[in-house]
Amino acid sequence: MPESTAEAAAILHRDSLVWDAHSCLPLRYGTDVGVLSRHKRAATDFVSINIGMDMTPLGDIMTVLAYYRVWLGNDSERFALAGTPDSISRAKEAGKLAVAFDLEGAVPLGGQFGMLDFFYNYGVRQMHLIYNRTNEVGGGCHDDDPGLSAYGRSLVAKLNETGITVDCSHAGERTSLDIMAASTRPVVFSHANVRALTDHPRNLSDAQIDACAASGGVIGINGVDLFLGEPGAGSEAMVRHIDYIAQRVGVAHVGLGLDYSYESDSAEAVAGAPVDESYWWPPGNGYDFSAMHFAPPEVLPAVTAGLIERGYSEPDIRAVLGGNFLRVAKATWV
Ligand SMILES: [Zn+2]
Repeated sequence: MPESTAEAAAILHRDSLVWDAHSCLPLRYGTDVGVLSRHKRAATDFVSINIGMDMTPLGDIMTVLAYYRVWLGNDSERFALAGTPDSISRAKEAGKLAVAFDLEGAVPLGGQFGMLDFFYNYGVRQMHLIYNRTNEVGGGCHDDDPGLSAYGRSLVAKLNETGITVDCSHAGERTSLDIMAASTRPVVFSHANVRALTDHPRNLSDAQIDACAASGGVIGINGVDLFLGEPGAGSEAMVRHIDYIAQRVGVAHVGLGLDYSYESDSAEAVAGAPVDESYWWPPGNGYDFSAMHFAPPEVLPAVTAGLIERGYSEPDIRAVLGGNFLRVAKATWV
């Protein structure tokens, strides 16, 4: 890459609003939340942090959410809890990392829609309905897929009403198509890649990509090598997946959702508690946390450089880096 391209990329990247739609801290009380400053040093302005999945007990989810919030609130020089699109722009201007939260699955709700108000009030702005395995809402991407249930349909309506972005990552294909048809607001896949490039059930079919775009939504490309299609994959593979979606449905429907795990070498660290690892992450689908590579936030400026090299315009690159997810936030965080 010519030095001038690298310089132009660094300047454009710093100047743009950079949005990571999903990354993970250890789901553990007492963990060092300050490691998130790495996101900011890599010129990321907003990150949505996972607070648990379908297998995580509700009490653990609430403990971790309260702990993260207190930690971030006590370091208001570097971090800002962000519940509105405006607060994200203000945080960037002040040189802070804006943080909101997401929940990966509806099981922790225990069937109570009132829990959505609770989570909204504590900063959750994005939610999956299913995590890999079929639940009462619908099918998981690693399970039978019966489609969206009647309960799931009501849940989508309640998420739309509450102001939490509906996220179809980890859902089965049929169920995700049902969710996107049911939602009255744009739907995202916060961290999911392209199945036509890497044939893995966690990746998206062309039908899912088309339906997401038709909803006005965005697909966040992740940095997990298992889903990018080559061991140790980084910015080059991410740019390939971004480019596929941009070519197919337009640049307005692709963004970034790194799925970086600040501690990723065991299922227990990822889940926050001992779990049946082979049930939630079937080994037959290639999961091995000790071997998987998660591209860190530091790769993102190279993604910007890769998009410049492919001839993307400055406005289009700004849209991919964060403008698209900001648009969806404005349309869903009511
Ligand atoms: Zn996930």
